[in-house]
Amino acid sequence: MSSLRPTNAPFEVVIVGGGVAGLEAVLALRALAADRVSITLVSPAADFTYQPAGVLSAFAHRPARRLALAQFAQETGIKLEQRALEAVVPDERTIVADGHELRYDALLIALGAHVRHHLPGISTGDPAQLWATLAGVIDQLEAGELSSIVFIAPAPTWPLPAYELALLAAEHARGLGVEITVITAERQPLQAFGEQVSAAVRRLLEQAEIELVTGSEVEPSVGGLTLFPARHVVHFDRIVSLPRLGGPSVAGLPRDADGFLHTTGFGEVLGVERVYAAGDATSFPVKFGAIAAQQADAAASAIAALAGAEVEPAEFDGEVHGVLFSRASAPGVYFSARLGPNGESRESRVSSAPTWPIDAKIAALHLSPYLDKLWAEGPRWIAGQLAWEAALSQLQSANPR
Ligand SMILES: Cc1cc2nc3c(=O)[nH]c(=O)nc-3n(C[C@H](O)[C@H](O)[C@H](O)COP(=O)(O)OP(=O)(O)OC[C@H]3O[C@@H](n4cnc5c(N)ncnc54)[C@H](O)[C@@H]3O)c2cc1C
Repeated sequence: MSSLRPTNAPFEVVIVGGGVAGLEAVLALRALAADRVSITLVSPAADFTYQPAGVLSAFAHRPARRLALAQFAQETGIKLEQRALEAVVPDERTIVADGHELRYDALLIALGAHVRHHLPGISTGDPAQLWATLAGVIDQLEAGELSSIVFIAPAPTWPLPAYELALLAAEHARGLGVEITVITAERQPLQAFGEQVSAAVRRLLEQAEIELVTGSEVEPSVGGLTLFPARHVVHFDRIVSLPRLGGPSVAGLPRDADGFLHTTGFGEVLGVERVYAAGDATSFPVKFGAIAAQQADAAASAIAALAGAEVEPAEFDGEVHGVLFSRASAPGVYFSARLGPNGESRESRVSSAPTWPIDAKIAALHLSPYLDKLWAEGPRWIAGQLAWEAALSQLQSANPR
Protein backbone atom coordinates (compact mmCIF):
# COMPACT_ATOMS: atom_id res chain seq x y z
CA MET A 1 0.00 0.00 0.00
CA SER A 2 1.39 3.46 -0.84
CA SER A 3 1.71 6.07 1.89
CA LEU A 4 -1.33 8.32 2.26
CA ARG A 5 0.78 10.92 4.07
CA PRO A 6 1.64 14.17 2.26
CA THR A 7 5.41 14.77 1.96
CA ASN A 8 6.89 16.64 4.96
CA ALA A 9 3.72 16.25 7.02
CA PRO A 10 4.40 15.03 10.59
CA PHE A 11 4.03 11.31 11.20
CA GLU A 12 0.59 11.08 12.82
CA VAL A 13 0.22 8.55 15.60
CA VAL A 14 -3.26 8.04 17.02
CA ILE A 15 -3.48 6.25 20.37
CA VAL A 16 -6.93 5.11 21.42
CA GLY A 17 -7.39 4.66 25.17
CA GLY A 18 -6.10 6.74 28.08
CA GLY A 19 -5.23 3.87 30.41
CA VAL A 20 -1.95 2.20 31.34
CA ALA A 21 -1.00 1.10 27.81
CA GLY A 22 -2.09 4.37 26.18
CA LEU A 23 -0.16 6.62 28.56
CA GLU A 24 2.90 4.37 28.58
CA ALA A 25 2.92 4.43 24.75
CA VAL A 26 2.78 8.25 24.67
CA LEU A 27 5.75 8.52 27.04
CA ALA A 28 7.72 5.79 25.23
CA LEU A 29 7.13 7.44 21.86
CA ARG A 30 8.25 10.80 23.19
CA ALA A 31 11.42 9.12 24.54
CA LEU A 32 12.12 7.20 21.32
CA ALA A 33 10.91 9.49 18.55
CA ALA A 34 10.64 12.92 20.23
CA ASP A 35 9.03 15.45 17.83
CA ARG A 36 9.31 13.16 14.84
CA VAL A 37 5.79 12.03 15.68
CA SER A 38 2.63 14.01 16.28
CA ILE A 39 0.46 12.16 18.80
CA THR A 40 -3.29 12.30 19.33
CA LEU A 41 -4.76 10.52 22.35
CA VAL A 42 -8.41 9.52 22.02
CA SER A 43 -10.27 8.80 25.25
CA PRO A 44 -13.89 9.28 26.33
CA ALA A 45 -12.74 9.61 29.95
CA ALA A 46 -11.32 12.92 31.17
CA ASP A 47 -9.04 11.23 33.72
CA PHE A 48 -6.61 8.35 34.02
CA THR A 49 -7.51 6.29 37.09
CA TYR A 50 -4.79 4.31 38.82
CA GLN A 51 -6.72 1.05 39.15
CA PRO A 52 -4.62 -0.71 41.84
CA ALA A 53 -5.27 2.30 44.05
CA GLY A 54 -8.92 1.31 44.06
CA VAL A 55 -8.17 -1.56 46.42
CA LEU A 56 -5.89 0.26 48.79
CA SER A 57 -7.69 3.58 48.80
CA ALA A 58 -10.96 2.11 50.03
CA PHE A 59 -9.27 0.48 53.02
CA ALA A 60 -7.23 3.63 53.68
CA HIS A 61 -10.39 5.78 53.37
CA ARG A 62 -8.80 7.81 50.60
CA PRO A 63 -10.17 8.62 47.13
CA ALA A 64 -8.59 6.75 44.19
CA ARG A 65 -5.62 8.40 42.48
CA ARG A 66 -6.47 10.21 39.24
CA LEU A 67 -4.59 12.19 36.63
CA ALA A 68 -6.40 14.66 34.36
CA LEU A 69 -5.64 13.68 30.76
CA ALA A 70 -5.69 17.37 29.79
CA GLN A 71 -2.74 17.91 32.13
CA PHE A 72 -0.95 14.84 30.76
CA ALA A 73 -1.55 16.08 27.18
CA GLN A 74 -0.15 19.49 28.00
CA GLU A 75 2.94 18.08 29.69
CA THR A 76 3.71 15.63 26.89
CA GLY A 77 2.81 17.92 23.99
CA ILE A 78 0.08 15.75 22.50
CA LYS A 79 -3.45 16.45 21.25
CA LEU A 80 -6.34 15.09 23.28
CA GLU A 81 -9.65 14.12 21.68
CA GLN A 82 -12.22 13.35 24.35
CA ARG A 83 -14.22 10.93 22.24
CA ALA A 84 -15.07 7.23 22.10
CA LEU A 85 -13.79 5.08 19.24
CA GLU A 86 -16.54 3.69 17.05
CA ALA A 87 -14.67 2.07 14.17
CA VAL A 88 -11.38 1.74 12.35
CA VAL A 89 -11.21 2.01 8.55
CA PRO A 90 -7.79 0.47 7.84
CA ASP A 91 -7.93 0.99 4.04
CA GLU A 92 -8.33 4.73 4.56
CA ARG A 93 -6.07 4.86 7.63
CA THR A 94 -8.74 6.62 9.61
CA ILE A 95 -10.71 6.03 12.75
CA VAL A 96 -14.20 7.23 13.56
CA ALA A 97 -14.67 8.53 17.10
CA ASP A 98 -18.04 9.99 18.13
CA GLY A 99 -18.78 10.71 14.46
CA HIS A 100 -15.45 12.46 13.80
CA GLU A 101 -12.83 11.07 11.44
CA LEU A 102 -9.17 11.09 12.41
CA ARG A 103 -6.37 10.12 10.04
CA TYR A 104 -3.35 8.15 11.19
CA ASP A 105 0.01 6.96 9.90
CA ALA A 106 0.14 4.49 12.77
CA LEU A 107 -2.68 3.55 15.13
CA LEU A 108 -2.36 2.01 18.59
CA ILE A 109 -5.43 0.42 20.13
CA ALA A 110 -5.16 0.54 23.93
CA LEU A 111 -8.83 0.30 24.81
CA GLY A 112 -8.53 -2.15 27.67
CA ALA A 113 -10.92 -5.02 28.13
CA HIS A 114 -14.67 -4.94 27.99
CA VAL A 115 -16.01 -5.43 31.51
CA ARG A 116 -18.82 -7.96 31.73
CA HIS A 117 -20.67 -8.06 35.00
CA HIS A 118 -20.32 -11.57 36.16
CA LEU A 119 -22.93 -11.52 38.89
CA PRO A 120 -25.40 -8.81 37.89
CA GLY A 121 -27.13 -7.00 40.69
CA ILE A 122 -25.06 -8.68 43.39
CA SER A 123 -21.80 -6.82 43.28
CA THR A 124 -19.26 -5.31 40.96
CA GLY A 125 -15.55 -5.24 40.29
CA ASP A 126 -15.95 -2.42 37.77
CA PRO A 127 -13.02 -0.10 38.55
CA ALA A 128 -15.27 2.95 38.36
CA GLN A 129 -17.51 1.56 41.09
CA LEU A 130 -14.94 -0.46 42.99
CA TRP A 131 -14.32 2.21 45.57
CA ALA A 132 -18.02 2.58 46.36
CA THR A 133 -18.49 -1.19 46.53
CA LEU A 134 -15.56 -1.60 48.90
CA ALA A 135 -16.56 1.33 51.06
CA GLY A 136 -19.92 -0.42 51.55
CA VAL A 137 -18.19 -3.69 52.41
CA ILE A 138 -15.92 -2.00 54.95
CA ASP A 139 -18.89 -0.22 56.56
CA GLN A 140 -20.69 -3.55 56.88
CA LEU A 141 -17.59 -5.25 58.33
CA GLU A 142 -17.11 -2.48 60.87
CA ALA A 143 -20.77 -2.52 61.84
CA GLY A 144 -20.52 -6.28 62.52
CA GLU A 145 -23.22 -6.97 59.89
CA LEU A 146 -21.29 -9.71 58.08
CA SER A 147 -20.52 -13.20 59.23
CA SER A 148 -19.24 -14.33 55.81
CA ILE A 149 -17.91 -12.71 52.66
CA VAL A 150 -16.58 -14.12 49.40
CA PHE A 151 -14.26 -12.58 46.82
CA ILE A 152 -14.64 -14.11 43.36
CA ALA A 153 -12.20 -14.15 40.44
CA PRO A 154 -13.85 -15.58 37.28
CA ALA A 155 -11.84 -16.17 34.10
CA PRO A 156 -10.56 -14.11 32.51
CA THR A 157 -10.19 -11.27 34.97
CA TRP A 158 -7.51 -9.37 36.91
CA PRO A 159 -7.03 -12.03 39.64
CA LEU A 160 -4.57 -10.09 41.83
CA PRO A 161 -7.13 -7.75 43.48
CA ALA A 162 -9.29 -10.70 44.61
CA TYR A 163 -6.45 -11.90 46.88
CA GLU A 164 -5.54 -8.39 47.99
CA LEU A 165 -9.14 -7.62 48.89
CA ALA A 166 -9.55 -10.85 50.86
CA LEU A 167 -6.28 -10.33 52.77
CA LEU A 168 -7.02 -6.69 53.58
CA ALA A 169 -10.58 -7.56 54.60
CA ALA A 170 -9.25 -10.34 56.87
CA GLU A 171 -6.96 -7.90 58.59
CA HIS A 172 -9.70 -5.28 58.87
CA ALA A 173 -12.16 -7.81 60.31
CA ARG A 174 -9.72 -9.54 62.67
CA GLY A 175 -11.46 -10.60 65.87
CA LEU A 176 -14.94 -10.07 64.41
CA GLY A 177 -15.49 -13.73 63.50
CA VAL A 178 -16.06 -13.12 59.79
CA GLU A 179 -15.48 -16.12 57.49
CA ILE A 180 -13.62 -14.99 54.38
CA THR A 181 -13.45 -17.07 51.20
CA VAL A 182 -11.81 -16.64 47.80
CA ILE A 183 -13.30 -18.54 44.87
CA THR A 184 -11.13 -18.45 41.77
CA ALA A 185 -11.26 -20.00 38.33
CA GLU A 186 -7.48 -20.32 38.53
CA ARG A 187 -6.08 -23.79 39.30
CA GLN A 188 -3.59 -22.13 41.67
CA PRO A 189 -3.68 -18.60 43.11
CA LEU A 190 -1.98 -16.21 40.66
CA GLN A 191 -1.22 -19.27 38.56
CA ALA A 192 0.00 -17.17 35.63
CA PHE A 193 2.98 -15.98 37.66
CA GLY A 194 4.24 -19.47 38.47
CA GLU A 195 4.68 -21.94 41.32
CA GLN A 196 6.69 -19.74 43.70
CA VAL A 197 4.11 -16.98 43.54
CA SER A 198 1.18 -19.38 43.95
CA ALA A 199 2.81 -20.99 46.97
CA ALA A 200 3.43 -17.59 48.57
CA VAL A 201 -0.19 -16.52 48.08
CA ARG A 202 -1.45 -19.83 49.48
CA ARG A 203 0.68 -19.32 52.58
CA LEU A 204 -0.65 -15.80 53.09
CA LEU A 205 -4.25 -17.00 52.75
CA GLU A 206 -3.67 -19.84 55.21
CA GLN A 207 -2.06 -17.51 57.75
CA ALA A 208 -5.04 -15.17 57.45
CA GLU A 209 -7.45 -18.17 57.78
CA ILE A 210 -9.03 -17.40 54.41
CA GLU A 211 -10.65 -20.36 52.70
CA LEU A 212 -9.52 -20.87 49.10
CA VAL A 213 -11.57 -22.62 46.43
CA THR A 214 -9.64 -23.02 43.15
CA GLY A 215 -10.64 -24.17 39.67
CA SER A 216 -14.24 -23.07 40.17
CA GLU A 217 -16.67 -20.77 38.44
CA VAL A 218 -19.87 -19.59 40.13
CA GLU A 219 -23.35 -18.76 38.95
CA PRO A 220 -26.09 -17.07 40.98
CA SER A 221 -28.77 -19.50 42.15
CA VAL A 222 -31.80 -19.21 44.37
CA GLY A 223 -30.58 -18.06 47.77
CA GLY A 224 -26.89 -18.44 46.99
CA LEU A 225 -24.24 -19.30 44.46
CA THR A 226 -23.73 -22.56 42.59
CA LEU A 227 -20.14 -23.66 42.31
CA PHE A 228 -19.06 -25.35 39.08
CA PRO A 229 -18.00 -28.01 38.27
CA ALA A 230 -18.86 -29.32 41.77
CA ARG A 231 -22.48 -27.98 41.57
CA HIS A 232 -22.51 -27.20 45.30
CA VAL A 233 -24.73 -24.37 46.45
CA VAL A 234 -22.93 -22.01 48.84
CA HIS A 235 -24.18 -18.99 50.79
CA PHE A 236 -22.42 -15.81 51.85
CA ASP A 237 -23.64 -12.63 53.53
CA ARG A 238 -21.73 -10.53 51.01
CA ILE A 239 -20.37 -11.27 47.53
CA VAL A 240 -17.68 -9.19 45.83
CA SER A 241 -16.89 -10.40 42.34
CA LEU A 242 -14.33 -9.15 39.89
CA PRO A 243 -15.85 -8.78 36.41
CA ARG A 244 -15.35 -11.29 33.63
CA LEU A 245 -13.30 -9.59 30.90
CA GLY A 246 -14.04 -9.70 27.19
CA GLY A 247 -12.35 -8.13 24.19
CA PRO A 248 -13.38 -4.67 22.97
CA SER A 249 -14.60 -6.03 19.56
CA VAL A 250 -13.39 -3.03 17.57
CA ALA A 251 -15.47 -2.54 14.40
CA GLY A 252 -13.26 -2.76 11.33
CA LEU A 253 -10.53 -4.87 12.92
CA PRO A 254 -10.08 -8.66 12.96
CA ARG A 255 -10.59 -10.21 16.41
CA ASP A 256 -10.86 -13.56 18.11
CA ALA A 257 -14.12 -15.17 19.24
CA ASP A 258 -14.06 -13.18 22.50
CA GLY A 259 -13.40 -9.84 20.78
CA PHE A 260 -9.67 -9.61 21.63
CA LEU A 261 -7.04 -8.47 19.11
CA HIS A 262 -4.31 -10.90 18.01
CA THR A 263 -0.91 -9.22 17.89
CA THR A 264 2.71 -10.01 17.13
CA GLY A 265 5.46 -9.48 19.73
CA PHE A 266 5.79 -5.94 18.34
CA GLY A 267 2.11 -5.26 18.91
CA GLU A 268 1.13 -5.37 15.23
CA VAL A 269 -2.49 -6.43 14.83
CA LEU A 270 -2.48 -9.49 12.58
CA GLY A 271 -4.07 -8.92 9.19
CA VAL A 272 -3.97 -5.09 9.08
CA GLU A 273 -1.18 -2.67 8.27
CA ARG A 274 0.00 0.05 10.63
CA VAL A 275 -2.44 -0.92 13.35
CA TYR A 276 -0.96 -1.93 16.72
CA ALA A 277 -2.56 -3.00 19.99
CA ALA A 278 -1.39 -3.28 23.59
CA GLY A 279 -2.80 -4.19 26.98
CA ASP A 280 -5.98 -5.88 28.10
CA ALA A 281 -7.52 -5.44 24.62
CA THR A 282 -5.11 -8.01 23.16
CA SER A 283 -5.58 -11.77 23.15
CA PHE A 284 -2.58 -12.26 25.48
CA PRO A 285 -4.28 -14.35 28.18
CA VAL A 286 -2.83 -12.64 31.27
CA LYS A 287 -4.49 -9.30 32.06
CA PHE A 288 -2.07 -7.17 34.05
CA GLY A 289 -0.93 -3.56 33.99
CA ALA A 290 2.77 -4.40 33.86
CA ILE A 291 2.12 -6.51 30.76
CA ALA A 292 -0.01 -3.76 29.18
CA ALA A 293 2.88 -1.32 29.71
CA GLN A 294 5.49 -3.63 28.21
CA GLN A 295 3.32 -4.36 25.20
CA ALA A 296 2.91 -0.60 24.79
CA ASP A 297 6.70 -0.16 24.91
CA ALA A 298 7.14 -2.83 22.22
CA ALA A 299 4.52 -1.21 19.97
CA ALA A 300 5.99 2.26 20.58
CA SER A 301 9.44 1.04 19.52
CA ALA A 302 8.02 -0.42 16.30
CA ILE A 303 6.04 2.77 15.58
CA ALA A 304 9.08 4.98 16.30
CA ALA A 305 11.15 2.94 13.82
CA LEU A 306 8.34 3.20 11.25
CA ALA A 307 8.37 6.97 11.74
CA GLY A 308 12.07 7.02 10.87
CA ALA A 309 13.61 7.27 14.35
CA GLU A 310 16.90 5.46 14.84
CA VAL A 311 15.42 2.78 17.01
CA GLU A 312 15.74 -0.98 16.96
CA PRO A 313 12.23 -2.30 17.65
CA ALA A 314 12.18 -4.38 20.87
CA GLU A 315 9.74 -7.24 21.17
CA PHE A 316 7.55 -7.87 24.26
CA ASP A 317 9.61 -10.44 26.14
CA GLY A 318 7.10 -11.65 28.74
CA GLU A 319 9.07 -10.54 31.80
CA VAL A 320 6.65 -9.28 34.41
CA HIS A 321 6.97 -7.70 37.86
CA GLY A 322 4.30 -7.05 40.43
CA VAL A 323 3.48 -6.62 44.07
CA LEU A 324 0.64 -8.09 46.08
CA PHE A 325 -0.58 -5.93 48.90
CA SER A 326 -1.25 -8.37 51.72
CA ARG A 327 -1.43 -6.66 55.10
CA ALA A 328 -1.33 -3.17 56.50
CA SER A 329 1.29 -4.21 59.00
CA ALA A 330 3.71 -5.74 56.49
CA PRO A 331 5.26 -4.71 53.17
CA GLY A 332 3.84 -6.11 49.96
CA VAL A 333 4.91 -9.41 48.45
CA TYR A 334 6.99 -8.59 45.39
CA PHE A 335 7.15 -11.09 42.55
CA SER A 336 8.47 -11.56 39.06
CA ALA A 337 7.83 -14.10 36.35
CA ARG A 338 8.62 -14.77 32.74
CA LEU A 339 5.62 -15.63 30.62
CA GLY A 340 5.65 -17.53 27.35
CA PRO A 341 3.74 -16.43 24.24
CA ASN A 342 0.58 -18.19 25.45
CA GLY A 343 0.82 -16.71 28.93
CA GLU A 344 2.42 -19.84 30.43
CA SER A 345 4.81 -19.18 33.32
CA ARG A 346 8.47 -20.10 32.75
CA GLU A 347 10.17 -18.53 35.75
CA SER A 348 8.77 -17.41 39.05
CA ARG A 349 10.31 -15.55 41.99
CA VAL A 350 9.01 -14.02 45.21
CA SER A 351 10.82 -11.40 47.24
CA SER A 352 10.30 -9.07 50.18
CA ALA A 353 12.09 -6.33 48.18
CA PRO A 354 11.12 -4.91 44.77
CA THR A 355 12.17 -7.23 41.92
CA TRP A 356 12.51 -4.25 39.59
CA PRO A 357 14.47 -0.99 39.93
CA ILE A 358 11.33 1.13 40.14
CA ASP A 359 9.12 0.39 43.13
CA ALA A 360 5.61 0.86 41.75
CA LYS A 361 2.35 -1.05 41.89
CA ILE A 362 2.20 -1.20 38.10
CA ALA A 363 5.69 -1.83 36.72
CA ALA A 364 5.77 0.50 33.71
CA LEU A 365 9.12 1.73 32.38
CA HIS A 366 7.99 5.28 31.58
CA LEU A 367 4.65 5.71 33.36
CA SER A 368 5.83 4.63 36.82
CA PRO A 369 8.57 7.29 37.15
CA TYR A 370 6.27 9.87 35.54
CA LEU A 371 3.52 9.25 38.12
CA ASP A 372 6.00 8.95 40.95
CA LYS A 373 7.44 12.37 40.16
CA LEU A 374 4.02 13.89 39.64
CA TRP A 375 2.53 12.53 42.83
CA ALA A 376 5.66 13.15 44.87
CA GLU A 377 4.73 16.80 44.58
CA GLY A 378 1.38 16.22 46.21
CA PRO A 379 0.40 13.73 48.90
CA ARG A 380 2.55 10.87 47.67
CA TRP A 381 1.09 7.60 48.77
CA ILE A 382 0.66 5.30 45.83
CA ALA A 383 3.36 5.34 43.23
CA GLY A 384 6.63 4.49 44.95
CA GLN A 385 8.19 3.11 48.07
CA LEU A 386 7.72 6.20 50.21
CA ALA A 387 4.21 6.17 48.97
CA TRP A 388 3.67 2.63 50.20
CA GLU A 389 5.05 3.43 53.61
CA ALA A 390 2.69 6.37 53.91
CA ALA A 391 -0.19 4.20 52.77
CA LEU A 392 0.67 1.55 55.30
CA SER A 393 0.77 4.00 58.16
CA GLN A 394 -2.57 5.40 56.97
CA LEU A 395 -4.01 1.90 57.11
CA GLN A 396 -2.49 1.22 60.50
CA SER A 397 -3.85 4.38 62.04
CA ALA A 398 -7.26 3.73 60.46
CA ASN A 399 -7.26 0.17 61.79
CA PRO A 400 -5.23 -0.03 65.01
CA ARG A 401 -5.60 -3.64 66.11
C1 LIG B 1 -8.66 -3.28 41.25
C2 LIG B 1 -7.55 -3.56 40.29
C3 LIG B 1 -6.24 -3.74 40.75
C4 LIG B 1 -5.19 -4.00 39.87
N1 LIG B 1 -3.93 -4.15 40.34
C5 LIG B 1 -2.89 -4.30 39.49
C6 LIG B 1 -1.54 -4.33 39.96
O1 LIG B 1 -1.28 -4.27 41.15
N2 LIG B 1 -0.53 -4.45 39.05
C7 LIG B 1 -0.76 -4.52 37.71
O2 LIG B 1 0.19 -4.58 36.94
N3 LIG B 1 -2.05 -4.50 37.22
C8 LIG B 1 -3.10 -4.38 38.09
N4 LIG B 1 -4.39 -4.34 37.62
C9 LIG B 1 -4.63 -4.54 36.18
C10 LIG B 1 -4.39 -3.26 35.39
O3 LIG B 1 -5.08 -2.16 35.97
C11 LIG B 1 -4.87 -3.47 33.96
O4 LIG B 1 -4.33 -4.66 33.45
C12 LIG B 1 -4.41 -2.29 33.09
O5 LIG B 1 -5.07 -1.12 33.50
C13 LIG B 1 -4.67 -2.56 31.61
O6 LIG B 1 -4.25 -1.43 30.89
P1 LIG B 1 -4.96 -1.05 29.50
O7 LIG B 1 -4.31 0.23 29.07
O8 LIG B 1 -4.95 -2.19 28.59
O9 LIG B 1 -6.48 -0.79 29.87
P2 LIG B 1 -7.07 0.31 30.83
O10 LIG B 1 -6.06 0.77 31.81
O11 LIG B 1 -8.35 -0.27 31.32
O12 LIG B 1 -7.38 1.55 29.87
C14 LIG B 1 -8.33 1.48 28.83
C15 LIG B 1 -8.65 2.89 28.39
O13 LIG B 1 -9.46 2.86 27.22
C16 LIG B 1 -10.47 3.83 27.34
N5 LIG B 1 -11.58 3.47 26.47
C17 LIG B 1 -12.56 2.56 26.70
N6 LIG B 1 -13.40 2.54 25.66
C18 LIG B 1 -12.95 3.44 24.77
C19 LIG B 1 -13.39 3.87 23.47
N7 LIG B 1 -14.47 3.35 22.87
N8 LIG B 1 -12.67 4.83 22.83
C20 LIG B 1 -11.55 5.36 23.39
N9 LIG B 1 -11.09 4.98 24.60
C21 LIG B 1 -11.78 4.03 25.28
C22 LIG B 1 -10.82 3.83 28.82
O14 LIG B 1 -11.46 5.04 29.18
C23 LIG B 1 -9.42 3.70 29.44
O15 LIG B 1 -8.84 4.97 29.56
C24 LIG B 1 -5.46 -4.10 38.49
C25 LIG B 1 -6.78 -3.93 38.01
C26 LIG B 1 -7.82 -3.67 38.90
C27 LIG B 1 -9.21 -3.48 38.37
